[in-house]
Amino acid sequence: MKKAFVLAISCLLFLTNCEQPKKEVIKTYTEEPHSYAQPNDAVISHLSLDIEVNFDTRVINGTATYNIETNGAAQIILDAKYLNISEVKADGKVTDFTLGAMDESLGQPLTIAIKENTKNIAITYQTTAKTEALQWLNAQQTADKTNPFLFTQGQAILTRTWIPIQDSPQIRITYDATVKVPSNLMAVMSAENPKEKTADGIYHFKMVQPIPAYLMALAVGDIEYKAISNRTGVYAEKSMIEKVHTEFSDMEKMVLAAENLYGAYDWEQFDVIVLPPSFPFGGMENPRLTFATPTVIAGDKSLTSLVAHELAHSWSGNLVTNSTWDDFWLNEGFTVYFETRIMEALYGKERANMLALIGRQDLDDELEYLKDKPNDTKLKLDLKGRNPDDGMNSIAYDKGYLFLRTLEEKVGRDKMDAFLKAYFKENAFSTTNTEDFIKYLNANLLDNNNITFNTLEWIYEPGVPANASVIKSDAFSNVERVLQNFMDTNKIDAAATSQWTPQEWGHFIRNFSKDISVTQLQQLDDTFNFTNSTNSYISMVWYEQSILNAYHGNDVDIKISEFLNTVGRRWYVTTLFSAFKKADRVDEALVIYKTARQNYHSVTANTIDTLLGYSE
Ligand SMILES: [Zn+2]
Repeated sequence: MKKAFVLAISCLLFLTNCEQPKKEVIKTYTEEPHSYAQPNDAVISHLSLDIEVNFDTRVINGTATYNIETNGAAQIILDAKYLNISEVKADGKVTDFTLGAMDESLGQPLTIAIKENTKNIAITYQTTAKTEALQWLNAQQTADKTNPFLFTQGQAILTRTWIPIQDSPQIRITYDATVKVPSNLMAVMSAENPKEKTADGIYHFKMVQPIPAYLMALAVGDIEYKAISNRTGVYAEKSMIEKVHTEFSDMEKMVLAAENLYGAYDWEQFDVIVLPPSFPFGGMENPRLTFATPTVIAGDKSLTSLVAHELAHSWSGNLVTNSTWDDFWLNEGFTVYFETRIMEALYGKERANMLALIGRQDLDDELEYLKDKPNDTKLKLDLKGRNPDDGMNSIAYDKGYLFLRTLEEKVGRDKMDAFLKAYFKENAFSTTNTEDFIKYLNANLLDNNNITFNTLEWIYEPGVPANASVIKSDAFSNVERVLQNFMDTNKIDAAATSQWTPQEWGHFIRNFSKDISVTQLQQLDDTFNFTNSTNSYISMVWYEQSILNAYHGNDVDIKISEFLNTVGRRWYVTTLFSAFKKADRVDEALVIYKTARQNYHSVTANTIDTLLGYSE
């Protein structure tokens, strides 16, 4: 958008150059290790998707029609993976296409013959049983247990498995879609959405803001909508809708707090759909409609920082997008920083510092886990030849956050906020890479204020630099005192814990000393009933400690098995299976995994397959 604007101005200034416009692609794209597309030769600009969702055969079929821009190239290359392509047309006429060799991670290049002046291409295709983005759920796997459900997960490079597309974060498209689903179900997308079911099961969508392919998203199920404000609201199954609406009732306040920090919300509507529990992530920032796990519905708004996180992506990620997956920290580090600022604005510094300290502990765990792979602890990654999923860990999120927090402390909050606000505004609806960000940072925050900062060490060196911000939380210090006292005396000060938040309980449980005894665990469980907690975060950290410390009281093993057979959130599932592995209990883990795996989305199953050395 920005570059097109510059071109228009230069036409006005140099009219002679514009009288005979040369056919050229406006933007210059950098080398992309995770897409076959050659956008400098021919690039897609708009998608019209016309598909039918068939639950009986578990297939999506239809036609993807693209407007394209070329520099006169004889072919355009798209990404595809495990799709059956039956026909391709260029400007309405059947044209030649080839599917290249299959790469297990990248899929296949789909090369389509075009002419110098081809305006659009239309690809008729259908998905297959191997389509990784889609998770088809039977009724039993949903909340209401009466109808099937389907959702997609595109990030990082899975959109190509359900739509043939140029699947690079550098390439932005607008789209419209017609989607036919069974008439008792509703379809929603990362677009303008329906608020009620249609009689015929046909839904029309429009996305007028240009987005990268990984933000294409579709969910189909027996869902309802309930508004929170005139631009925020929630979708969920009938049995969940009231709970979800109450849990997320601060959404409008969150949008206001975010706008107050970094400028206007550019996507008009901000809704959240709560999916069945197999959804592999906490949330996915699909524009206009965040996809979320039901594990954050705790009944007390204690886990809603997830909504702040996905909302923050409306700026960092969706508005200003990482150029390649090597720059993923630009999406996530900024988003964690922004999320923490939203939480501070709404609920105060202490809550924000607790979240930041949890992140710091996650980061230290990740650094320990990656101690033999120091290159993977740099913010700027080199994922060529690897799956970008390898970079989706605490380094991008929590080291990225710590960099920005440390920078904020160095320059002061006022300067930091003005800098970030301008950064989002000037780079809106475009992509940026690490090197461009460093240039922008030097020019607009550091050099002009005569501030020196070890930016390059933070970004290009492994580990955490010595000047990292030291995060303190009085609440967590208090938790540590209570825990130490218990370890020393076997007495628990129950009164001191009566007002604890789930974050404080999580901190308590995660910091058990390595030599905590089974008797002590039993005593804590009998006092606080951790095994039967209804808060998914407390459950997860308690089950982790139970596995690590061979605690088997109060039927916790049954609970762990039930949890792993229901929840597919990758963070939770990975934590628990990793604990089994650390405790040399892989055999027990495999028994659970054999039944649980069918409930997991491919991104979770792939991670656990590798972790446990499992193959079907
Ligand atoms: Zn994120």
